[in-house]
Amino acid sequence: MRHRIAVIGGGPAGLTFARVLHRHDHPVTVLERDPAPDARPPGGTLDLHEKLGQLALGKAGLLAEFQALSRPEGQAMRILDTDGTVLRDWQPRPDDRANPEIDRGQLRDLLLGPLDVQWGRGVTEVVPGARDGVLVHFADGRQETFDLVVGADGAWSRVRPAVSSATPHYTGVTLVETSLDDVDTRHPDLARLIGDGSMAVYGVNRALVAQRNSGGHVKVYAQFRAPLDWHTNLERHMGLNRRAGMDAGLDLADVEAVRSSLLALFDGWAAPVLDLLRHGTAFVHRPLYVLPVGHTWAHVPGVTLVGDAAHLMPPLGVGANLGMLEGAELAESVAAAPSSGDLDEAVRAFEEQMWARAGMWAKITTAGLERLVSPDPTEALAFFDEVQPS
Ligand SMILES: Cc1cc2nc3c(=O)[nH]c(=O)nc-3n(C[C@H](O)[C@H](O)[C@H](O)COP(=O)(O)OP(=O)(O)OC[C@H]3O[C@@H](n4cnc5c(N)ncnc54)[C@H](O)[C@@H]3O)c2cc1C
Repeated sequence: MRHRIAVIGGGPAGLTFARVLHRHDHPVTVLERDPAPDARPPGGTLDLHEKLGQLALGKAGLLAEFQALSRPEGQAMRILDTDGTVLRDWQPRPDDRANPEIDRGQLRDLLLGPLDVQWGRGVTEVVPGARDGVLVHFADGRQETFDLVVGADGAWSRVRPAVSSATPHYTGVTLVETSLDDVDTRHPDLARLIGDGSMAVYGVNRALVAQRNSGGHVKVYAQFRAPLDWHTNLERHMGLNRRAGMDAGLDLADVEAVRSSLLALFDGWAAPVLDLLRHGTAFVHRPLYVLPVGHTWAHVPGVTLVGDAAHLMPPLGVGANLGMLEGAELAESVAAAPSSGDLDEAVRAFEEQMWARAGMWAKITTAGLERLVSPDPTEALAFFDEVQPS
């Protein structure tokens, strides 16, 4: 029997789900809010782990193509002190394929392949229990019905309310992201500082992380503990009282004002490290939100969640990996379920497995964020010494 399956969201989790179903010759409707694949910048690089994201790509039959595209040298990781001293410099072995990096845009295109995504189809609500299945409402006022709706629509999921009342809460840590282009020719000193992979500097309650993407593109993340409204009064919320105007509120759209506020926030750090902010182009404000650790729900026939929609957690290199593996596993179970009763049992079993694994990672990443952006920067170093292979 061919179940009517819809996946809401064409991120790593949703596309992996669709691609594995496609590999099993099972029809799937992919509904994505963005009007086109390149409607917005795809975001930074992702490292895909052998036992998570790469396993999922294997299930999609895409591992060889991933290996050809990915950057094993991107596994390199360097940690500096705030005065610029190199504290750690991990280099991958030439044959190390444990966590190679890939640009998100490349991963998206790899997963898209032959999929027929319906772009520009924002979902507003999902209503289970309708006579003919699960009702999906769209922003344009239309409705469609499916046997199974998979919410892969990320942090602010519109599918989640159909199964759970949980909503993301602020972690107390904010990222401000900026980028450098063509770093090898335009900023060779910074290119050397960053190396082939990532570079991080940890200070008191703040950090600067730079990650190399392909083509000489670098993403820089300024991270700091701050109240959610930190930008409304820098003097009161951030203790930045050296310059007039810090109490007037920061316009997050004003590139130069954000740059000078960040430079004040990281004042005293080594000049080459601060050059990452001096040369950054636009700044994107990303307060970090999470769902409660161990988020589960009472099973609702016909609706489930994968990826960030199910278990938004701190960005410590596993969110996309988990979402992809969940997408792949759910697709395999769905494709193997002959009747609608079997389909529901398959989804139930999948959810139990997802909750256990995601709960474990949510605990690890939550504790990790506490240590990486912490009052005691030696905690960050200790964290890396624990997780980095020697
Ligand atoms: C700075 C940073 C670095 C990170 N680095 C890593 C890393 O190295 N490795 C890693 O594994 N993870 C990393 N993550 C986490 C990772 O980005 C997420 O966990 C991952 O993108 C989640 O995938 P997803 O498919 O569940 O959701 P998303 O990637 O958020 O995709 C959701 C999709 O749903 C669409 N959508 C949303 N709402 C609707 C709607 N109402 N209707 C239709 N479509 C909708 C969106 O447009 C989007 O395409 C990082 C996160 C951040 C912020």
